Amino acid sequence: MNHTGFIFHEDFLKHDPGPWHPENPARLENIYKHLKTTGILSHLEMIEPRIPCPDWILKIHTSEYISHVRESAINGVDRLDADTGICKDSYRIACLVVGGVLEGVDAIMAQKVKNAFCAVRPPGHHAERNRAMGFCLFNNVAIAAKYIQSQFDLEKVLIIDWDVHHGNGTQNSFYEDPTVFYFSVHQNPFYPGTGHESETGIGAGKGFTLNKPLNAGATNSTYIDVFESSLLPAAQKFKPDFILISAGFDAHQNDPLAAMKLTTEGYGKLTQIIKSFAEEECNGRVLSILEGGYNLKVLADCVEAHVQELMN
Ligand SMILES: [Zn+2]
Repeated sequence: MNHTGFIFHEDFLKHDPGPWHPENPARLENIYKHLKTTGILSHLEMIEPRIPCPDWILKIHTSEYISHVRESAINGVDRLDADTGICKDSYRIACLVVGGVLEGVDAIMAQKVKNAFCAVRPPGHHAERNRAMGFCLFNNVAIAAKYIQSQFDLEKVLIIDWDVHHGNGTQNSFYEDPTVFYFSVHQNPFYPGTGHESETGIGAGKGFTLNKPLNAGATNSTYIDVFESSLLPAAQKFKPDFILISAGFDAHQNDPLAAMKLTTEGYGKLTQIIKSFAEEECNGRVLSILEGGYNLKVLADCVEAHVQELMN
């Protein structure tokens, strides 16, 4: 059995947010080519996405919003917010991405693979219940968490978001929910302005959101320390049945959009920490979903390091 799945579809390249956009099809094209050239792709279990039942998207988004995305795309609207460009294919592709993520969950649950990486776009963690935001249409990771809980008999999901931006949409999806623990480490102050340490959840969800905002310039050692001294103790207490990663690679020192100093090796080390925890706690069940990462060369290298650790 191949231990790591890889979710990808050529149509993911057809989502066009407009000229000069940092979230462009070349991101995925480069990842795919790089994994092929290095020979890694042949060791991965390829998983084909499906068009998902719309009910799964409705678990996180309103029907009005879903219709708005569909109508806007069909009618040739070119953006849903200042940063979030779309094209005629974008609704269909955003649905296909959700379907890819759900197939990844299925493959892990059926034990076809131990864990999996979703090379997908558009990304998802900024998407709110009723609006697009920050390059994101549907909140892929949040939908995956709902799917894991509803479709399988698993109660608790841990979402680890290491994208350099705070995942406001994911946090809000589960802010009152004690069954999904949301952890985010991100640059602060920075877009989208949320993710302060004081944001810890409300009501029954109090204590199930953990934010670690870091000043610009944070290095591997700071990130590793945050993982070991904040994330791991919280995760050990929570005891997840399944782990989702919002895998943004825009905290890399050479990313053009942010100012952190993580390296490719740093991403490998963070993956290792999560993977060994997952093996102790939840049978190794980890589904990693691509979010940001805008330096093409660096993004491909980071995905390689990340996937290598998932495979080890
Ligand atoms: Zn980001």
